[in-house]
Amino acid sequence: MRLLTYLRDGAVRHGRLHGEDRIEEFGDGDLSVWLAGPAAAPRGTEHLLQDVRVLAPIPRPAKLIGVAANYQEHVAEAGAPALDKNRLAPRLFLMPPTAVLAPGEAIRLPSVSEQVDWEAELGVVIGTTAKGLAVADALSAVAGYTVANDVSARSMSYGFDRDTDDPAVGFFDWLAGKWLDGFAPFGPYLVTREDVPDPQALDIRLRVNGVVKQHGSTKDMIFSVAELVAFASTIMTLHPGDVLMTGTPAGVGASSGEFLSAGDEIHVSITGLGSLINSVSARETP
Ligand code: MG
Repeated sequence: MRLLTYLRDGAVRHGRLHGEDRIEEFGDGDLSVWLAGPAAAPRGTEHLLQDVRVLAPIPRPAKLIGVAANYQEHVAEAGAPALDKNRLAPRLFLMPPTAVLAPGEAIRLPSVSEQVDWEAELGVVIGTTAKGLAVADALSAVAGYTVANDVSARSMSYGFDRDTDDPAVGFFDWLAGKWLDGFAPFGPYLVTREDVPDPQALDIRLRVNGVVKQHGSTKDMIFSVAELVAFASTIMTLHPGDVLMTGTPAGVGASSGEFLSAGDEIHVSITGLGSLINSVSARETP
């Protein structure tokens, strides 16, 4: 089942996508309403996809969790030594809900960075309240999957000189580079868990202006979806509608020194999950 959040007549609604262009409306509010407890009887009205504005499946997740360095080839392209997962915890970080961007909307280049990059990622939406999950049980806490782009600023500039020899500067710049408005587009819909029998067997591909930049498989994750969800749940209670982005394969712009420019179009696709398309718009003024 493919579930959508969208704007119709100025109000947020959620429903199910049928075929390529018809939505069966389930009710008011975004998909977090459905995740909290599906309505006994869907509203049953139908609308054409072209008559609504699709939003991110969860437009304002309470928690938006990222993971750094979860594909060995991406670690290698960054010049770092191979990671030994037996001696490593997943490198989770949190992003603000203001980073979420709807499918089709423009990623605005920020005033504080000249190096804005792409990261195609499998997105996971949590479906139940969960704490301390075992890996074997973790996927049962997942509502479904979506396509995500962990847009990342690779350098930050705030208009004054800083002590860039201090490693803490690099660490906090790295974090801040994930937090910018609109830097976490995901969608266009949520595919429910039962329709994704193996989240570790999905082809993932990203194109910029039609040119393939990333082409990987979720089988190459260092920590699987189940391991990431279980680990996150050892640290914090997960709730329905929390979103986890699972890391990016090789092929980011930083590895070749190529960054996004106004007018670019980014197209991310994952097997069975559709395509997430966002353009890039002009730099904001400070
Ligand atoms: Mg990432």
